[in-house]
Amino acid sequence: MFIYCENCKWTQDDFWHEGYNPYEYMYTQGNKDLLFSGKLDEVFMSEKYDRYLGYIGNHPMTNREFLVKEMRRWADTIEKQRWITIEEYRKENPEGMCPNCKRKTLIED
Ligand SMILES: [Zn+2]
Repeated sequence: MFIYCENCKWTQDDFWHEGYNPYEYMYTQGNKDLLFSGKLDEVFMSEKYDRYLGYIGNHPMTNREFLVKEMRRWADTIEKQRWITIEEYRKENPEGMCPNCKRKTLIED
């Protein structure tokens, strides 16, 4: 479940719990295996999709770049998350006021 503003489109990551949170998603066994694979500067191939996942500049992303990108993405999520759990959100903001545009237009989805 997450919240978004129907006025200005502000949003944050899904609410976090034991099974879904930045820590669980950053420190996966797959990422740890990649770190010790001896192939940090080889092109990152998604096992799920069996293809390149993206480009950095004009070259396919390497395993090293993938790991750094993942860590930055989750660090960014931690910086931006306004409310960690749905309970915290409902207690602190019962009127659903958007932290960006200050209108009472937050929607739970
Ligand atoms: Zn808003």
